[in-house]
Amino acid sequence: IEEAIRRAEKMAAVGQLAANVAHEINNPLATLAAYAEDLADRGHEEGWDYLVKSGTLEQYLGVVRVQVERCKTITRRLLDFARPPLGETGPADVLTAVKETVALVSYAFHKKGVALNWEAPSIKPFPRVKIDTSELQQVLFNLLQNALDATPAGGRVTIDLFQEAGMIIIRIADTGKGMPAEYLSRATEPFFTTKPPGQGTGLGLTICHHIVTKAGGNLTISSETGHGTTVLVTLPLASTGENTAAGEGKEEKR
Ligand code: ADP
Repeated sequence: IEEAIRRAEKMAAVGQLAANVAHEINNPLATLAAYAEDLADRGHEEGWDYLVKSGTLEQYLGVVRVQVERCKTITRRLLDFARPPLGETGPADVLTAVKETVALVSYAFHKKGVALNWEAPSIKPFPRVKIDTSELQQVLFNLLQNALDATPAGGRVTIDLFQEAGMIIIRIADTGKGMPAEYLSRATEPFFTTKPPGQGTGLGLTICHHIVTKAGGNLTISSETGHGTTVLVTLPLASTGENTAAGEGKEEKR
């Protein structure tokens, strides 16, 4: 039953997203239609040979490719989101999720010259949280990608884990460009992006926010222009039975 509720909630959220997706895909489709029509007209008037020789055809095909890519990115993000969770459905091992996601993004950080600092907490065993592991990885991946995008070479992104009052807090802090108040207030809005077309969909934080709140947690962002952004993901601990017995009670003191 819980699984049915989870799915129903997800489908409702997908329904909302679908309305936005339809709107968002409409623009590239309208561009494609207009270019196809214009190309056909010009082919008849100016001759196809001329369009090929003058490079017009190539230019039009370039536009087609960019617009199709845009549609593909949007549908891919939506599919990732709508797909039922692949692996285990929690409780998630936060340490492993962080380690695996760090491994996944570390090359991109290295290439850009941004340091990624992360130290496993000394609490052993680290308690598990109530969230699907693959969804937690998706959240971490999106947040680290955003942090990397915002941080120039020579900057730093730090991941910290804390335990506080029955919750696990994952903190991802970057020394990047930060956000002005008007971006911050819209950051989790579907399709809000300040990235160039093709690079941002504006769905990353929407999906993160949805996944985290569905798991009973919170996602809060604080940011200062020119100094950096800090994202706190707070997630409830898994119930006692789902956690290792040795992990209970003892890790309160650090
Ligand atoms: P996308 O990354 O596709 O733009 P998101 O929903 O993940 O979509 O982010 C929305 C916007 O929020 C970004 O375009 C960017 O302007 C801002 N943002 C997100 N994370 C950060 C960050 N760590 N530092 C600065 N700005 C950020």
